[in-house]
Amino acid sequence: MSTFQAPKGTYDLIPPDSARFLAVREAISAPLKRSGYGYIETPGFENVELFARGVGESTDIVTKEMYAFETKGGDRLALRPEGTASVLRAALEANLHKAGNLPVKLWYSGSYYRYERPQKGRYRHFSQVGAEAIGAEDPALDAELIILANDAYRSLGLREFRILLNSLGDKECRPVYRAALQEFLRGLDLDEDTLRRAEINPLRVLDDKREAVQKQLADAPLLRDYLCDACKAYHEEVRALLTAEGVAYEDDPRLVRGLDYYTRTTFEFVHDGLGSQSAVGGGGRYDGLSEMIGGPALPSVGWALGVDRTVLALEAEGVTLELPSTTSVFAVPLGEEARRVLFAKVTELRRAGIAADFGFGSKGLKGAMKNANRSGARFTLVAGERDLAEGVVQLKDMESGEQGPVPLDSVVDVLRERLA
Ligand code: AMP
Repeated sequence: MSTFQAPKGTYDLIPPDSARFLAVREAISAPLKRSGYGYIETPGFENVELFARGVGESTDIVTKEMYAFETKGGDRLALRPEGTASVLRAALEANLHKAGNLPVKLWYSGSYYRYERPQKGRYRHFSQVGAEAIGAEDPALDAELIILANDAYRSLGLREFRILLNSLGDKECRPVYRAALQEFLRGLDLDEDTLRRAEINPLRVLDDKREAVQKQLADAPLLRDYLCDACKAYHEEVRALLTAEGVAYEDDPRLVRGLDYYTRTTFEFVHDGLGSQSAVGGGGRYDGLSEMIGGPALPSVGWALGVDRTVLALEAEGVTLELPSTTSVFAVPLGEEARRVLFAKVTELRRAGIAADFGFGSKGLKGAMKNANRSGARFTLVAGERDLAEGVVQLKDMESGEQGPVPLDSVVDVLRERLA
């Protein structure tokens, strides 16, 4: 292994590509900021118990994929594999739910960790932007979140994604369905592991990707046929609101997702250009999660969108984001006196809000102009002794190639005008 290699299943974000990641994060969070969601940041690790109880003891995430460790002080911690449990924990700890303004609407952006088998689109360290609306049972809230995710993807220029929608029922109807599904699963030819899973969490078996298992599931009972009247009405309202807002979705009665805490509305955003790792985002309602982690009843709904896969989806669709060049002006000094003068000009430009950079290090004109080109700057400022003696700098338009002297005193004003 080379000394300079990121750990397996991880990669670095490096300029210029990293700018696209920032733009994606920005595009996903922009609709949330416009919709009453406040920013929350929680630690990168939590007590392992939080995820075991919240995400679910029998899920792959908890049994196989969690980076759990014991600290020198004997605490059992885990790097966060997802955001919802942490955000809810933080909201409960800060008593946000008691301020009397439910739902508490929060958004977040950060790194998540799962010990998965790496492949394209599946990493051990990845980024999500997420949103949670805590403490309200209202189909309009579910619809709001789905619409905001849809609008975020559309604002990026993505078109080839689909929204899969399902209802997982509630504590009235799900147990009845669960028993029926269990009964069905017990009659199948399944390996021991899968049978054990069928006893602990039979819905997860529906999510089994193996063909031999999927074949046997063709006649499995569907939750759709077991929904109680309240869940049915709730789901119909979510669907009607989405339709009214022109958001297309597909009913997917088999969508269960890999986390135990979901109830009622569940959804996934899939992109058809991504191969096997096609889920770009997902979420749903988690009315029981607060109680599962020891809090009061707080019906809630949320989603998390994967930043890495959203970037891959942009590539798959051939969408190039319009990213403004980071540097507008690049200053190239020729000689010591010019270094001082141009360095001051660069500082002045930056303070005036104009993105500027400087030819650092002692390079000749040719080397410095290469840097200026690489920076993507629209204009360069070049000055040598003779220019300074005349009180001017040479301003070059890198697009047209035009060049001419500008009085030192008016450089900032001239650039402001020409960049406008
Ligand atoms: P999940 O909590 O598993 O539904 O994840 C939500 C989103 O995060 C997914 O739709 C993916 O876009 C992204 N995601 C989850 N796991 C990974 C991973 N191992 N690598 C990259 N992205 C991931």
